[in-house]
Formats: sequence, C-alpha cells, structure tokens
Amino acid sequence: RAMKPYQLSDEMERVLHDQSVVGAAAWNRLFDETVASLVFTIDGEDLPLEAAANKLSEQDRDTREAAAREIARVLRENTSLFARVHNTLAKDKEIEDRWRKMPTPQTGRHLSNHVEAEVVEALRNAVVAAYPKLSHRYYALKAKWLGLETMQIWDRNAPLPIEDDKLVDWTAAQEMVLSAYAEFSPEMAEIAKPFFTKGWIDAAVKPGKAPGAFAHPTVTTVHPYVMLNYLGKPDDVMTLAHELGHGVHQVLAAQQGELLSSTPLTLAETASVFGEMLTFRKLLAAAKTPQERKVLLAGKVESMINTVVRQIAFYDFECKLHAARAEGELTPDQINAIWMSVQGESLGPVFEFMDGYETFWSYIPHFVHSPFYVYAYAFGDGLVNALYAVYEEGDPEFQAKYFDMLRAGGSKHHTELLAPFGLDASDPKFWDKGLSMISAMIDELEAMED
Ligand SMILES: [Zn+2]
Repeated sequence: RAMKPYQLSDEMERVLHDQSVVGAAAWNRLFDETVASLVFTIDGEDLPLEAAANKLSEQDRDTREAAAREIARVLRENTSLFARVHNTLAKDKEIEDRWRKMPTPQTGRHLSNHVEAEVVEALRNAVVAAYPKLSHRYYALKAKWLGLETMQIWDRNAPLPIEDDKLVDWTAAQEMVLSAYAEFSPEMAEIAKPFFTKGWIDAAVKPGKAPGAFAHPTVTTVHPYVMLNYLGKPDDVMTLAHELGHGVHQVLAAQQGELLSSTPLTLAETASVFGEMLTFRKLLAAAKTPQERKVLLAGKVESMINTVVRQIAFYDFECKLHAARAEGELTPDQINAIWMSVQGESLGPVFEFMDGYETFWSYIPHFVHSPFYVYAYAFGDGLVNALYAVYEEGDPEFQAKYFDMLRAGGSKHHTELLAPFGLDASDPKFWDKGLSMISAMIDELEAMED
C-alpha cells in the first residue's frame, strides 16, 4: 500500500522492466566487469581490487602507500568510464523516478527500508554534527599512536603498532561468544548452541570457498546456516558473534512465516551488531592490561567510525551527486570535487589527501548497485548503540522486550518495535544516545594518553 502511489500502469511497468535489461542492468554489468578486470601491480605482484585494497591495512607503511598510489593510478586511467556509468545511472534513475512521481531520489530507498525521510535526515544530521567529536578526534589520536604529524589515506585503516597477532582457536571462540550470549540471557545461548552442535556452521577456509561471511535463513520451516572463513583473528571472533546474532534473529523470527520473517535493511543488522557488542564488552571486561584494553577500544571505535561516519559521508556523496546530475551531465572532475568535499569534512583536519584520492568514489559498488543503500549501515549501528545504552541503564524487562523485538521479524514498523524501550528514531536525541557511546570510548582512549 505504501508503494501504490508510485506504481504505473501495467503496460508501463512491463516496458520499464523489459527495458531495464539494456538500461540500468547493463550499466551495472559494465561496472562489475570493468572492476573485475582491473589489475593492480603492487611490489611486482598483479592483484585484483579486493587484494589490492587489503594492502591498505598492512602493518608496513611503505606497502600501504604503494597500494594507495597504485589504486589511484589504475582508477584514474578508468575515470572517464566510471563517470559515464554514474552519469547514466543517475539519469536513468531520475527518469524513472519522474515517471513514478517520486518526490526525491531517496524516496524509493526509504520506502523499501520502511523508514521516513525525516528519520534518515535526523540520523544524517546527528552524525555530521558529531564528526568533530568522533572521527576528527579519533584520527588525531591515531596519528599520535602511529607517530605521524599528518595522516595519509593509507594510514586510515593501518593496524596499531601495539596490536599483537595471537590467534583464537575455534573452541575458544565458540566458548567466548556463547558465554557472552549466556551472560545476556541463557535463552540466547540455547538458541545459538545447535549452530555448533548440529553442524549449521561452515567455518573452515577451503580452496574454492567464497570469501566473506553470512547467515542464511533458508526457509522458515527449517533452520538457518552460517558461513564463515574462520582464521582465528580477533576480527574473526567478532564475525562469528555477528553471524550468530543473525542466526538467533532468524530462528526467532521464523514463526512469522515466509512473508513477514525478514526485516527491512534498516533493522536487519540489529541482532548481529548487538551480538558483537555483547562479545566485545565481555572481551573488554576480560582485558588484563591497560594496553590490551586500549587495543580493543581502538578497534571497536575504528570499526564504528567506518560504519557510522564513513557510510553517512557516502550517503552525502550520493545525495550531492544525484542533485548535481539533475542539473546536467557531470565531468569526472566535478564528481571528484563532490567526493573530496565529503571526505575532507568527515575524516577531519589531520588528513592530508594524496593526489589521486579524488577518484576513489569510482569503485564503490553500492553507489552503482543500490543507490542510497549505505545509510542503512549507520542506521543499524546507531540503533543498536541506543538499544545497548538502554540495556546498560538496567531495565529489568530488557531481555524480554529484546526477544519480542526479534520475534516480530519484519512484521512491525520501527516505531512499534522501539516504543517498548522508550526509544523513537525520529527524535534527534535518539541518535545522539548511540553516538555518545562512541565518543565516550574516545574519551577513555584520550584519558589513557596522560
Ligand atoms: Zn550482518
């Protein structure tokens, strides 16, 4: 019913659908095939994009710099093609939106996310206003830890020099996550257990296995499966906590049946990010030295900045790109300028941007595949941080309310789901609650400096 006002006649819908094969879908393919064919030569080794981008988080600074410069070189060679793809897709979207009488380029995304424009606006504004106390402050600290006056873009994801590389074996990881879940609620650990005991997780790294991790609900009458590539790094433990969170959510929501069990994107990461937070808090409480605590806090802050600040900066980039394209075709330089304006604003004054960074918008797949998708990541993290803050305030009914929320699957609007917790996502204070949690962690990191 919400989408009905934007639906066209059956005949028009069929033309648009048929035409999309040689329209948006074809430009998406051109983008995917182009990105897949790029070759980056770093230290004499020919690499695809993902492997090249991975080098940006290597311990060795020269390797990171070489990777950044090579990525810039290859992207620059292809910028005119990427600019053509973005120009065409933004125009294609504008044409279709106009026919559907969508009031803004973002309307379609908000509708499918079951979220109102004002709510997203409140999120966006709260995050942008918090840039100075989040990313600007954190990266200034990180520069100090790395012994740098200014940060280069190849330092953004650099590991901290104090990080150790001890590994966590599979049994220990299982113990860690299940006990973190059990401390929150024994019922949650019970739901998670069969994933381990009944073989619902494929964890090992094997030749030919796809990279990444996911939890798949299969169908509501069976049970979910989790896929991981577990190597024992601390991040891998967090990924296990994350995917198991999805798994618990999928088990609980299954009672809604096939059509209502899955949530819109904005709520899809609730249980996963919450599960990570529980595990993180447990690890933090178990830290034996201030150094260990610092590494954990810094890692968490950094990943939250990547989810909240970076994704909102991406969202701003897209908003500006679509608005500018509505005025006419954009040159690569104009797109580069939009990118640099949001990057400078979000990363802060400690960064110095190398020549070539201006083209780094061009390989980000979300802009091409699913416009305005990115804010959902910030939405999910912000929502969980606000929920976690309520949990920490010690509401004795919290667990029961939390399980009710997961059981509802996609059957309820976010206002209904959050009301029992006294939360309301359209209130700018709601987002500040979550953002304060990140800035409190940065306060602690700063205090550790003296
Ligand atoms: Zn997830």
